Amino acid sequence: MRLTSSGRHHAAFEFGDLRVVSLRDGYIDMPPTLLRDEHGCAFDVLPGAVPLVGGNLRLSVNAFFITDGTRSVLVDTGASDAWHEPTMGLLHDALDEAGIDRAQITDVAITHRHLDHVSGLIAPDGSEAFAKLERVWIGAADAPVFTGRLEPLRDRVVPVSEKAAINDWTTAVPAPGHTPGHTVYDIRSGTGRLLVWGDTVHVPTLQFDRPNVAWEYDGDQPRARTARAALLEQLAQPQWFVAGAHLDSPGIARVAPAGDGYALEYLAPRIG
Ligand SMILES: [Zn+2]
Repeated sequence: MRLTSSGRHHAAFEFGDLRVVSLRDGYIDMPPTLLRDEHGCAFDVLPGAVPLVGGNLRLSVNAFFITDGTRSVLVDTGASDAWHEPTMGLLHDALDEAGIDRAQITDVAITHRHLDHVSGLIAPDGSEAFAKLERVWIGAADAPVFTGRLEPLRDRVVPVSEKAAINDWTTAVPAPGHTPGHTVYDIRSGTGRLLVWGDTVHVPTLQFDRPNVAWEYDGDQPRARTARAALLEQLAQPQWFVAGAHLDSPGIARVAPAGDGYALEYLAPRIG
């Protein structure tokens, strides 16, 4: 995987016969009291060197576009204006900066139902963000999110309840825990594998070193821990890369065993 271009809102990589583009939707600041130790309790004292900004954790919000030049898939869509946070909702700027025409996007794969992943299907003016959208893949248990503002897209929802090929090089793999329908996407190129793993980790400065640390919004914390442990073990194998919605933008890295946990090695300098 090789960085080919980057800017304020995107970084593009050559990945064998595929092009992988990280798209920065923005960031969100959240209190460290949302972290949970292995017993499900908040920390009295934060472990390790967890950087804070104004007392908060700063989480990047990323989406990922992968293409072979003919077929493409966009994984997650950012927050649009759902949280009324001016620090998020920049996906369209990122797509423009990367030279990707959103009017040509036909397939969107959603990792889970939370608003910072699914809301970007609808533009702030209420119109559909992707005019030629044909399919929205999402874990079956998270598919009920397609009501209200997202209701018009319901006829294009493809619910995923077991491993499913969504094109020649992308497989949807259920990884429940963070939400019941949390789904990761396994991208195969001629030179390696990339796992776009949604919200498996929220705080990269802590949860690789200590994978047992959970997040209050992990709907089922024990199950999220189990899923994270299994995916980290997989990613520590040769040829694997990870792309994370809340890893520091652009959020593409390698994972290696380190001590009782893992170390993260980003493939490109931080953006945003
Ligand atoms: Zn998220």
